[in-house]
Amino acid sequence: MATLRVESIGGLRARVRAAREEGKSIGCVPTMGALHAGHAALIDRARGDCGFVVATLFVNPMQFNERADLERYPRSLEADLAVCRRRGVDVLFVPAETEMYPRRATTFVDVEGLTDVLCGAFRPGHFRGVTTVVMKLLHIVVPDRAYFGEKDYQQLAVIRRMVEDLNLPVEIVSAATVREPDGLALSSRNRNLTAEQRAAALALPRALQAARRAVAAGERNAAALRRAAQRWFDREPLLRLEYFEIVDPESLQQVERIAGPVRIAAAAWAGKTRLIDNVAAG
Ligand code: AMP
Repeated sequence: MATLRVESIGGLRARVRAAREEGKSIGCVPTMGALHAGHAALIDRARGDCGFVVATLFVNPMQFNERADLERYPRSLEADLAVCRRRGVDVLFVPAETEMYPRRATTFVDVEGLTDVLCGAFRPGHFRGVTTVVMKLLHIVVPDRAYFGEKDYQQLAVIRRMVEDLNLPVEIVSAATVREPDGLALSSRNRNLTAEQRAAALALPRALQAARRAVAAGERNAAALRRAAQRWFDREPLLRLEYFEIVDPESLQQVERIAGPVRIAAAAWAGKTRLIDNVAAG
């Protein structure tokens, strides 16, 4: 099936309006492109649920803390279009920066609390950029459902909270993290890893899986889990652990004694590439 590439907000709205008039429900899959099987899983989910699927591709400058990181972000529009065609996306919305931000933005969406912890503590302004652009995309597409991956667990929690707090008429649907056979979570940023960094990066899912197994085996002490995790990274000079936290799955607040379901989330640097991952436990 043909995927239509649309660059203007007006053009996108016209397509969505036509689909609605045909009685179709609208699904939206926001992405920053360099599409991989994790994105494809979200698209497949949307395709299964909705009559009309919009994928969006916008590398949102507002959510990057550093210009260099924005410039390094992988881009592969033609390959992304091919993925969208294969997966049956109806419209790929690819706005230019000037379409999304024709003037300097003066209005922002801030979700307090949830954004102060985990990645938010290390990437000031990042989540404000995410929530602001997702709010804009939700207002542009006006989908019945929007799809987000558990890979970015904090992002998912923050967006769910924004939708709830602001009564947005959209259902947020999440999908499990898609991994390489060896356990590394798929990420567009993996393309920036050298072969050595790619090998070292495995410590991230391995430390998380080890912590998950320890909780399943009865470990209740978060500090002990963090210490055990640190040892995985001590063995990998190419990987620098930024945080390894055991948090409440909803509030994202640190848990010291595990008494119920938790989320174990971590971030690590391989050279200039920042990797994140998380698992459920408890
Ligand atoms: P991104 O293009 O990295 O901004 O991601 C777009 C969407 O795809 C987000 O909702 C991510 O959580 C989701 N995503 C990214 N990687 C994965 C993965 N490995 N498995 C599942 N979803 C993912």
